[in-house]
Parts: sequence; C-alpha cells; structure tokens
Amino acid sequence: MKAEIIAVGTELLLGNTVNTNATFLAQRLQECGVESYRQVVVGDNITRIADAIKSALSNDIILICGGLGPTGDDVTRDAVALAAGKKLYEDQVCRQKVSDYINKAGTPLTENNFRQALLPEGAVVLHNENGSAESFYLDINNTRVYVLPGPPRELKPIFDKYIAPEISGESVLVKRQLRLFGIWESALETKIAHYTHDLANPSVGIYASHGGVMLQVTARAKTLNEAENMLVPVVDELCDILGDDVYGIDVDNIEHAVVNLLTKQGKKLAVAESCTGGLIAKRIVDRPGASAVFDCGVVSYSNDIKNKVLGVSKETLEKYGAVSSQTAAEMAQGILNLSGADIAVSVTGIAGPDGGTPEKPVGTVWYGIADKNGVKTFKNVVSRDGADRNYIREYSASYALNLVRKHLSCV
Ligand code: ATP
Repeated sequence: MKAEIIAVGTELLLGNTVNTNATFLAQRLQECGVESYRQVVVGDNITRIADAIKSALSNDIILICGGLGPTGDDVTRDAVALAAGKKLYEDQVCRQKVSDYINKAGTPLTENNFRQALLPEGAVVLHNENGSAESFYLDINNTRVYVLPGPPRELKPIFDKYIAPEISGESVLVKRQLRLFGIWESALETKIAHYTHDLANPSVGIYASHGGVMLQVTARAKTLNEAENMLVPVVDELCDILGDDVYGIDVDNIEHAVVNLLTKQGKKLAVAESCTGGLIAKRIVDRPGASAVFDCGVVSYSNDIKNKVLGVSKETLEKYGAVSSQTAAEMAQGILNLSGADIAVSVTGIAGPDGGTPEKPVGTVWYGIADKNGVKTFKNVVSRDGADRNYIREYSASYALNLVRKHLSCV
C-alpha cells in the first residue's frame, strides 16, 4: 500500500509552524506497514491544494492535514470537493456538533463556524473528540483521501482510532530504541557495522539524538510475537557489545532513565549547579513523577554562595579555583549534607566564551557524585568544534545526569 501526506497551511510554507504532523503521520504509516511515497506542503489555496490531491491520486491513500478551521482561509474541504468533482453540502449532524462544541467552550457562535459543517458529497465522518472540525474521508477514483484537522492534539487520536486500524497491512512492525551517551555516531558504527550494514529484518539504524545517539532496531513479521522474537536477540547482542554506553531502552532521554532508576530504588537526588545554571534540575523536574525522586537544587554561581550555602571552603576556592576537583567534591558533599537526598551531583565548569586559560580551557567541567559512601569526582573537557556556551551547558547537564545514571546502575 502506498501513501502520500499533504500538509496544508501557509504558515508551514513560511516556516512559522514546524510540520510535526508529517513526522507523526510518516512514523505511523511505517508502523502500519504502509509505504510513504511523498510529502507535500501546500499553502491555503483551493486550486493548489486540489492540484496536489490530483497529482497524488496514484497512491492508495492520501493523508491531508490542516485547513479545516472556520475562517475563509481554511479551504481544504473546498479543495477536496474540487479535486473529487463533488459539491459541498451542510451536514446536519456536523452542524449540531459544531454548535454544541462552541457553546460548551463558552465562545460566541458565529455564522462562519458552520463552515465546519460542510462536507464533500460522499464523505464519511471520522469523529473529532478534541475540536470542532470533524475529520472525514472520501474515495476519489480508487484512492482513499483522509482529511484531518491541523492541531496535533486533534489529528493524532483521529489517526490512531480510525485510520490506523483501517490501513494496517498484514505485517506488524515492532521497534526498540536504544539510547546511548558518551559515544559518537562514527565510533558506534565501527563497533556495530555488521548490524547496520548486513541486517535487513530486523534492521538497525543510527540516529543522533539529545547530544547522544539513538539506535533503532525494527522487525517486521506477521504477528506481534513473531516480530518481538526476532527483535529480542538483536537488542540483547547490541546491549552486550555496547555495555554501559546504553543508558536506556525506549526512554526519551537521560533524565527519563535517571528518574526511572531513582523511582525503582526509592531514592532522592539533590543537585548543586554552577555553569549549568539549573538545567539539570529543570530537566529532572520536566519528567512526570519527579516530586517523588527530586529533593532540591542549588544554583551556586558565585563563589560566595558556594561557600555560604554549600560549605565549600574559602581555602579550596582560593587554592584550587571554582573549577576544580576539590570544589566539585565539596559542592556535592555540601548539597548532600544540606538535603535529605540519597545521592547528590555537582557541576562546575567554564562554559565560555570567556574565562578559559591554557590549563583550564573553555569547556573544562568538573563533576562530583556524593552518597553515604563518600564522594567521587570526574572531569570532562567539551572540545567539539563549534561547541558554544549553550552546547557546553546542555552537554554538561547530560554528562552529569549520565554520571548519576551510571552510579545508580552500579549500586
Ligand atoms: P483550526 O480549527 O484550529 O483552525 P485547522 O484544521 O484549520 O484547525 P490549521 O488552521 O491548519 O488547522 O492549523 C491549526 C494549528 O494546528 C496551527 O496553528 C498549528 O499550530 C497546528 N498545525 C497545523 N498544521 C500543522 C502541521 N502540519 N504540523 C504541526 N502543527 C500543525
């Protein structure tokens, strides 16, 4: 089965809105075993949308998204009718739905709202539970044309509820995502060349992701069980080869893996941050469930606060400097003592662009990990070409989170 995605919206053409709907739909098509042949973006123009539809009619299905709103520039339904050679009619069930939806939202109901009750003759409604515009499909020649609203929170459930079950082929696609930190794509490919080059099903792909790398293993088979059985040995072998560099399977990012581990072990984390300026705390708190595992964070940017709040001694700061193993150790121990946490992490470094010296160049970062057994320190120098202040701070936050993850994995 072949498909084409047509995203409608002048804001997409202008680059004001990122076309995440196409990404979502393309991924789902792949999971459904449907081949994605082409993606098109068209502005809010009836003729051009209709032309795009006509030139996609060699596909089995077309997925159109956007342009179902009530205003004059929302013309997708008009364009579908034009491409199909059908008239638009006002559907009374849709009219009632629009009226109920707008009244419930407490916004004024205006006549143009009822544009959303217009459908091309022969269209079949796919109920939209999250918006006023109904979705629909229409068969043009032998092509099923699905028309979806633009807002992703409306589009996604409609696709999953109505379209995915209809288009899913005879095979099932199962995937696992292995996330890695501390290894570059090129080094990774060398280690697992056999898997990325020689395997077709399951297949293994390498993608850059969140300052690290993601390995996606996909298997296609007749049944879910069969696909899982094909996938498991390959995932196990990759984990054996890559060891500790794999920070999680099917997790979103390092903080996700850290929150999972803390939750599983019933532990709390505290952080003392200098150059990352609260990024680690933010990333942990971004995760649902953080309140059970996050104790506190201190952004001790100045030496004065490192001393007064965290108890880093003035002698340490004078003798070794703020960016040193000794300061990182005392910061980590200080925040552990101050909090009720089980594990603490500290970060102190030079994010630049100024402040570097030959001994401590920009990108030099020290980390401390403390728990009841003592404190350990680690150093990393971010020396990647083009690593600016922002990159160094983000990377350092990931590095610190990865140290926490490794520490938790060992105990
Ligand atoms: P509405 O009734 O909200 O007007 P609509 O079906 O007419 O819905 P659009 O007006 O095209 O949809 O888009 C509404 C919003 O949906 C946009 O402002 C944008 O935030 C989001 N959106 C539209 N198309 C896309 C897309 N391809 N990818 C991601 N978001 C999108």
